Amino acid sequence: MILAANWKMYLNENDSKEFIKKMHLESDIFEEKNIMIFPSHSSIRTVKNNSNLPNMIIGMQDCSEILDGAFTGENSISSINIDACIVGHSERRNNFNESNETIEKKLNNSLKCVKNTILCIGEKKEEKERNETYHVIEEQLSILPKDLQGSRLIIAYEPVWSIGTGLVPTNEYISDILSFVKKYLKELYSSEICEDILLFYGGSVDEENIKKLSEISLLNGFLVGSASCKFEKFKKMIKAI
Ligand code: PEP
Repeated sequence: MILAANWKMYLNENDSKEFIKKMHLESDIFEEKNIMIFPSHSSIRTVKNNSNLPNMIIGMQDCSEILDGAFTGENSISSINIDACIVGHSERRNNFNESNETIEKKLNNSLKCVKNTILCIGEKKEEKERNETYHVIEEQLSILPKDLQGSRLIIAYEPVWSIGTGLVPTNEYISDILSFVKKYLKELYSSEICEDILLFYGGSVDEENIKKLSEISLLNGFLVGSASCKFEKFKKMIKAI
């Protein structure tokens, strides 16, 4: 199991440094675990400079759809050495109106430039209520390149109605969606490629529910927001997986 921590804008540079220091003080707990940390962009360098846990991957929470040029304020994926990038997070889709077309460009940049790409997918509450979940997911997956090359692809199923709300779907609900994703991937790619694609769940995961969620057989890891920013909660989640 992999635990990916999306720190959003919760932790500033000092907070991030302190967090990493605490991890190193208890390195015996963390060093054997597969951890991905996504600090805010301005804290990436500090996190990188202060960490040397062998299995820890550091990445960007998002990247520009453009690689270089006169685009003030944008963060190109090639602007810093990182090993992972998240694209298509629902906060980008919904708060910044990112279309599937934009996310496709980001996805391709990430696949080309870094070792691990997390593509987030998931339905909104109203889409679920209109029974459109599978349709939405299919549309979000339709941007996957037919010729998948470059980084390891991770699909993170994150129902929007679960993010930051404390509402967590049942294991059965998540399993059904992941089976659908798996089937979609099998139709698109060879079995060798499919074996390398990982499936994550995200949405209100915390130290209380992670153990039960880990029972989902198709799951390879979690993308965790707010609970991953609190050291004690993070530690408990790491111990539980
Ligand atoms: C997220 O934003 O990716 C997320 C899963 O958030 P939270 O864990 O806070 O619901």
